[in-house]
Amino acid sequence: MGERTPIVLASANPKKAAEIAEILADHLELVPRPEDVPEVIEDEDTFEGNARLKAVALSEATGLAAVADDSGLEVDALGGAPGVWSARYAGEDATDQDNVDKLLAALADRPDPADRTARFRAVVILRYPDGREQVAAGHVEGRIADAPRGPGGFGYDPVFIPDEGDGRTFGEMTQDEKHAISHRGRALRSLLAQLEA
Ligand code: IMP
Repeated sequence: MGERTPIVLASANPKKAAEIAEILADHLELVPRPEDVPEVIEDEDTFEGNARLKAVALSEATGLAAVADDSGLEVDALGGAPGVWSARYAGEDATDQDNVDKLLAALADRPDPADRTARFRAVVILRYPDGREQVAAGHVEGRIADAPRGPGGFGYDPVFIPDEGDGRTFGEMTQDEKHAISHRGRALRSLLAQLEA
């Protein structure tokens, strides 16, 4: 794909869209998601399925290529929950704070860090109008903190301590520090490597 081919950024979550743009903007020509495209109902039970729903919807609505990310947090002690339900863990209209509160309550009887292991996963799909697509995945291992720390990022960032870090949560890191090891950074760099291959 030529570097100047416009690609619609399919995410309707402004903070997630900003992260995707930060990682891809030097490499690809990104176009914002048109506001008149209705929100996509994410009713698949895998990250890849939900990423495809968003990429197909935005590609069909615009006639352009579209890049979509679906992502979430898997907590081992909760059998992989909230997983694909991460955005709606505490209910349809849950805020990030509601979701974090519910997660900390669910782990309240497991204070041992060894019982609080978790990972973020992301699947990104670049979908072309002719139906061709490129799929890439990334993950980052870590554990859930006892209490939220740090003002940065979004979602579960204030309670996720990556194993590869120095004990800070994603919420305490700069965006560049997060992108270097995050599920989304890894998935998007893998996508770029496929495009350059
Ligand atoms: P979706 O991919 O739009 O379905 O939403 C993913 C949800 O997973 C977000 O709303 C967050 O709750 C969570 N999530 C995904 N990636 C991150 C991240 O990088 N930091 C914190 N939370 C995340």
